[in-house]
Amino acid sequence: MNFELQPLNFPSDNKRPFVIAGPCSAETEEQVMTTAHQLAEKGCHMFRGGVWKPRTKPGGFEGQGEKALPWMARVKQETGMLTATEVATPHHVELALKYGIDILWVGARTSANPFAVQELADSLRGVDVPVLVKNPVSPDLELWIGALQRIHAAGIRRLGAIHRGFSSVDQKLYRNTPLWHIPIELHRRIPNLPVVCDPSHIGGRRDLIAPLCQQAMDMGFDGLIVESHCNPDEAWSDAKQQVTPDVLDFIIDRLVVRDNVEMTESLASMRKQIDDMDDHLMDLLTKRMRVSREIAIYKKEHNMGVVQTARYSEILDKRGAQGSMCGMSASFVRRVYEAIHEESVRQQMEIINK
Ligand code: PEP
Ligand code: MN
Repeated sequence: MNFELQPLNFPSDNKRPFVIAGPCSAETEEQVMTTAHQLAEKGCHMFRGGVWKPRTKPGGFEGQGEKALPWMARVKQETGMLTATEVATPHHVELALKYGIDILWVGARTSANPFAVQELADSLRGVDVPVLVKNPVSPDLELWIGALQRIHAAGIRRLGAIHRGFSSVDQKLYRNTPLWHIPIELHRRIPNLPVVCDPSHIGGRRDLIAPLCQQAMDMGFDGLIVESHCNPDEAWSDAKQQVTPDVLDFIIDRLVVRDNVEMTESLASMRKQIDDMDDHLMDLLTKRMRVSREIAIYKKEHNMGVVQTARYSEILDKRGAQGSMCGMSASFVRRVYEAIHEESVRQQMEIINK
């Protein structure tokens, strides 16, 4: 697919990926200014701050709204950093532009809604401002591309995508599962579209920021957007995932940026896919063992033996046949199930003999 685009030309140091940093939310003028000055001292060129916050439930901190926009303008004036904020309605666009915000982004909850995106796109017609579109919360590449197309069709040429991971019902390591193959496929489909990684919303945890930034570099992302707060523990939103400007500087400084990394189905990215799938496998195995322990309680209450031979044979035969239909050897699949069954029996015995 061909998108007619102009380069974002975001400032960065010596051909390193650009970094947009700043708090999840602009909370107070003091918090904004303190964080901004600390970031600027570390050489950061672009400042993010959420002015309108989409909250899952009402009653949480929903952002300061227009009141915070003069603080953002002050950041730009005093530090020279470009400023960025999330817009979700035409009114947000109007106000952000009025106060001179340099970069707009569309949040994950908004990009999931074509009506909202179309309204945003209409309000951007005739405006020359860079717009970054976050992936929708659900792992739906077409919906993400659709949102990008709507903004592009309104005439926005400095356009980029932000990968912030995807919601998943399972318990997992990440707040939002990365599913790296989706941004990689986006890049394959629209090769000239810059893709930015948001390790803060993927990880949801401070200790995951550094490894996620490095993974993004290894996969050839164009830039990073990272949440940074002068006092992360006291942040009014997303406290667990924010780092101080000092820590962020430490992380960025140690990133290994390789030459000529192209975001393609390279070995590294395919390994990431394998890692994702292994995470899923481990999740599923954990759940399977939990159900198996529940069965042990039932068997104990009904005075049944642990191993029900007929049921065991049925599983081995059924999965063996299914495996060979899926291109695996039936004996391999049987061996896998024998091992799973062995562990399952061990866990059930523990419960029954308690
Ligand atoms: C944010 O950037 O603070 C935010 C709300 O992100 P997302 O839309 O990715 O959840
Ligand atoms: Mn946030």
